[in-house]
Amino acid sequence: MNEPDQRIVQYIEAGRDRFIADLKEWLAIPSVSGDPAYATEVRRSAGWLTEYLRGQGFPTVEIWDTPGLPAVYAEWPAADPSAPAVLVYGHHDVQPVEPLDEWDTAPFEPVEDGDRLIGRGASDDKGQVLFHTLGIRAALAASGAGAPPVTVKLLVEGEEESGSVHFADLLRDRRDRLRCDAVVISDTTMWAADVPSMCTGMRGLTEAEVTLRGPSSDLHSGSFGGAVPNPLHAMAALMAALHDADGRVTLPGFYDDVVPLTDEERALFAKLPFDEDEWLRTAGGSRAAYGEKGHTTLERVWARPTAEINGMWGGHTGPGGKTIVPREAHAKISFRLVAGQEPAKVQQAFRDWVAANTPHGVEAEVHIPGGGVRPCFSPIDSPAVKAARRAMERAFGREVLFTREGGSGPEADLADVLDAPLIFVAVGLDDDRIHAPNEKVEIPLLLKGAEAAAYLWEELATALR
Ligand SMILES: [Zn+2]
Repeated sequence: MNEPDQRIVQYIEAGRDRFIADLKEWLAIPSVSGDPAYATEVRRSAGWLTEYLRGQGFPTVEIWDTPGLPAVYAEWPAADPSAPAVLVYGHHDVQPVEPLDEWDTAPFEPVEDGDRLIGRGASDDKGQVLFHTLGIRAALAASGAGAPPVTVKLLVEGEEESGSVHFADLLRDRRDRLRCDAVVISDTTMWAADVPSMCTGMRGLTEAEVTLRGPSSDLHSGSFGGAVPNPLHAMAALMAALHDADGRVTLPGFYDDVVPLTDEERALFAKLPFDEDEWLRTAGGSRAAYGEKGHTTLERVWARPTAEINGMWGGHTGPGGKTIVPREAHAKISFRLVAGQEPAKVQQAFRDWVAANTPHGVEAEVHIPGGGVRPCFSPIDSPAVKAARRAMERAFGREVLFTREGGSGPEADLADVLDAPLIFVAVGLDDDRIHAPNEKVEIPLLLKGAEAAAYLWEELATALR
């Protein structure tokens, strides 16, 4: 582990007050993307960021309009035109603030409370976008260079909190400008303030709805029951057969493409201070951990694919009895996918499996809404992840562990459209109350983020060359 660069540390310390004052100014703009009443504020936020980035020295700063709310793009070319390019992703829109009466302070009048900065967007995601500017300037000041060692591109979206509806199109339209060798995501969390960590992947998703049809109308169970197939029985059997006794999904080939966890990654997961009882409380008071045999809870939610039955219905569900053989049965299923799996392949495997397992006399229809979300994953021994880890370890002065995310966001589009590895350099905490009243960020962690960002460019310049 390298010692911290004192020139960078001192630059960041000296710049702290100015940085926090600037961040507060930005946080005061209520850029709520989910509420059309705030659209002008989201635009004002994009305008503020544009001016700010110009002031910080970015030679190119542009507002990128979408059919919805604007993103901000900035670029700082490396002195050496053959140097790698790195894209930093974040967002400048925020979640709504209701219920207002649960806030101890006004959400858009940010206040400092000791080491904390409280206000909507402090952690998610304005604070984490802005630490990059302090990081770049610290790195340039320390090196005396006029330009970073990699071309730094910054893409700050304005619709992340309202579903990123135009984001994939924006990426496709601007693919040439966004071309890069790695994408740095600064919109997630670390394990804990004293357990710095990096996320290395997000699960993908695909969904399906199954309809099983029997007779053309509900039948009297006295006259016909036991003598014709019952679609609900068939559905129950089908859904029960989706997992085996070891909790594994039974679709043929389902695990074939899964990139297995390495021994090193499993060992690093195991180092995270994880309290399963406490976790079960966050799982709605679930009474037991459950899942694929041979894997820990963290491995199950982060690195193993799943099938979940999301809903089943059919027949008579109202009050009182109704003695029928129902005409049809329905179920909704979702699959979480991990590194190596392709949604289209899983969709086909599911269609084939339903066809092969539907009993004679029952007709099956599988509806698959959309193409799904591909998983994203950067191996922990890949050059980009190793470089970012070195930068984080140098800033935090301790070992950086790895996590993954069980769900997925617009990050999957970044990896897909730009075809570049993702690296997650983020300093939010799970208790930052993002999306909730009294959102805060720990200022010392933002400054550590800036320091890590300052080391990152040099590390990536060497690693990606
Ligand atoms: Zn966010």
